[in-house]
Amino acid sequence: MALADAYPYDVFTDPVSTKWNEKPYHSLDYMLRQRFGEKVYKVTLNGGMSCPNRDGTIGRRGCIFCSEGGSGDFAADASLSITDQINSQIKILSGKRPIRKYIAYFQAYTNTYAPVGYLEKIFTEAIHHPAVAALSIGTRPDCLGEEVFTLLEALNRQKPVWVELGLQTIHERTAQYIRRGYPLSCFTKAVRELRERGMEVIVHTILGLPGETQKDILDTMDYLNAMDIQGIKLQLLHVLSGTDLALDYEKGLFQVYTREEYLNLLIDCLEHLSPSIVIHRMTGDGPKDLLIAPLWASRKREVLNLLHHCMKERQSFQGKRYHPSLKQ
Ligand code: SF4
Repeated sequence: MALADAYPYDVFTDPVSTKWNEKPYHSLDYMLRQRFGEKVYKVTLNGGMSCPNRDGTIGRRGCIFCSEGGSGDFAADASLSITDQINSQIKILSGKRPIRKYIAYFQAYTNTYAPVGYLEKIFTEAIHHPAVAALSIGTRPDCLGEEVFTLLEALNRQKPVWVELGLQTIHERTAQYIRRGYPLSCFTKAVRELRERGMEVIVHTILGLPGETQKDILDTMDYLNAMDIQGIKLQLLHVLSGTDLALDYEKGLFQVYTREEYLNLLIDCLEHLSPSIVIHRMTGDGPKDLLIAPLWASRKREVLNLLHHCMKERQSFQGKRYHPSLKQ
């Protein structure tokens, strides 16, 4: 049965888009091709900022899973100008294939954690680069004030601005364990404020946090379904060397998923999620040299191929167990 036949809800105006480019979920690649008319790549930038969870404002040891790179282990060299960071990555990426458009992704640490004048300078430099089609800014919801909203709103009138919020979980007990440092209400308020100003919101979640059951994780998906978000990253919990999470793992305080367990959970999440939410990530992008567990996660292509196979076998697709009435 073709996905378009199986799909029960009329959420897209373009009937072609119900095929999601032959994948059983609303992939980022597909969304970008639909929106920009061609394949679009990401360049990961480093604005040289820190994080309140590392500089002592909230804490000094960061979120329990966060490596020294501040979730930006693949971001460019912060000593280079933004233009040079973009150009150097374009040079590498376009050497392999013809690419004309890029998302400028400010990834490392908390990318709105600086005076607004500095943010304006670096974001404007990125958005004015002729190859940049959109700006994506990774940050914390407690680092978004009125001045930042006004800046992002102005930038969003020039090119699309996406704001990526690291939520990880809706459950406060887990949030305390991972030392996230802000309550769920802060996230919810930030999403509302961003949406009122027209920015697109992408939410980072982690699957497999210690102490969380499958139901806890699906509750997070259901909560996000009820919010006005445009994208999600479903990140497998990675235990990285040098983190406090690694210490707990080595003490045997929790276990990581087997590949089969993770794929089953991931499919459950996709089935629960609204089909309108774009899936930006489904595994993880942790640096291989720091990865302690699960080691199977480093074979990303293999994991994705197996996911597609399992979804076909289960006749599964994103939104299979979602109903529009769940959306507020
Ligand atoms: S908020 Fe982000 S950068 Fe800061 S400690 Fe947590 S994961 Fe790392």
